[in-house]
Amino acid sequence: MSDKAIYVTEPFLPPLEDYVEYLKGVWDRNVLTNQGPLVRELEQNIQAYHQIDMPVHCVTNGGLGLQIMLKALDIKGEVITTPFTYVATSSCPLWEGCSIKFADIEPDHLTIDPAAVEAVIGPETEAIMATHVFGNPCDCEALEVIASKHGLALIFDAAHAFGVSYKGKSILEYGDASMVSLHATKLLHAVEGGFVVAKDPAVAEKVEWMRRFGHKGPEEFHGLGINAKMSELHAAMGLCNLKYIKEILEKRKAVCDAYDLAFIKLKTEDLRPYAYRKEATRNYAYYPLIFGSEEALLKTLESLNDANIFARRYFYPDLSSCFASDQEVCPLAIDISKRILCLPLSDLMAQRDKSVEMVIHRVLASS
Ligand SMILES: *Cc1c(COP(=O)(O)O)cnc(C)c1O
Repeated sequence: MSDKAIYVTEPFLPPLEDYVEYLKGVWDRNVLTNQGPLVRELEQNIQAYHQIDMPVHCVTNGGLGLQIMLKALDIKGEVITTPFTYVATSSCPLWEGCSIKFADIEPDHLTIDPAAVEAVIGPETEAIMATHVFGNPCDCEALEVIASKHGLALIFDAAHAFGVSYKGKSILEYGDASMVSLHATKLLHAVEGGFVVAKDPAVAEKVEWMRRFGHKGPEEFHGLGINAKMSELHAAMGLCNLKYIKEILEKRKAVCDAYDLAFIKLKTEDLRPYAYRKEATRNYAYYPLIFGSEEALLKTLESLNDANIFARRYFYPDLSSCFASDQEVCPLAIDISKRILCLPLSDLMAQRDKSVEMVIHRVLASS
């Protein structure tokens, strides 16, 4: 048994000197926030990394990004969303005073099922909020067709999807607007942070001023805003980390490849790796494993915990069990959320002797 715990994820930290170098600039300029030069540089670098023309607007965190996106698109009524995601995808529209309705997920990719979305559209529906869960794209094109047919906004919670491309273009090109999280547990992080892109320049412009209290110069206002500004210190962390993204991806890929090698050959109903879409690039943000039953999952989880290995039940419980009104049932989401476990995955694991082998051994021995 190892004396060092292995967690589901551990944040990447750049060499301290890199960060200090940015801090020196901050000290020289004495600009700490309000769209300072580091925030603008981070926005440009993220835009270039994704090869998109849309402007990138950084915000304090991904959750506020989702809320501002809803405000900028003027969504006040019903939002159709997925039950299989992090709680923020439901709580942000609810916090904004919208109502939510769940549509069940596709059995393999576990992203929202376009047919299920179309089946629950009603007179109050204004938007679809879909999650590219585990960085795996939704069936974006089918959702776009449905959204335009019914005049709905299509919003993507792309919190997990930094750097992913789908069918030859950035995942951020799909839908009306997307939010990516830069939280410490995400692939690229700024300690806390996030960014928003929107297709319509008028919406993007609204996001730009809504995140800073609506200011139009010191004495005039475009309209209602909130404080969702990213600080220069957070942007500095994002900039440092982005320089290492290639290394981070390579190390995470090595861990995922080792897991794949061990688990893909099983491919039984008792244990199988989660399926990524063929036309998408992987960003190695998560490694979900699907068990035949909740009992099997709990047995493995206990065995891992005994060895100081902390996998996490992403995403359990499904959100329809938390937020849905009576008649909405999402049997696929309810079922899968009981049987899915995310294995530990970080760049640090790739460097630590035997961590990956230990996880694999424990999973195979207990299942
Ligand atoms: C992390 C996450 C968020 C929230 O992002 P924060 O930056 O932590 O506010 C929203 N949606 C999903 C699916 C997430 O995983």
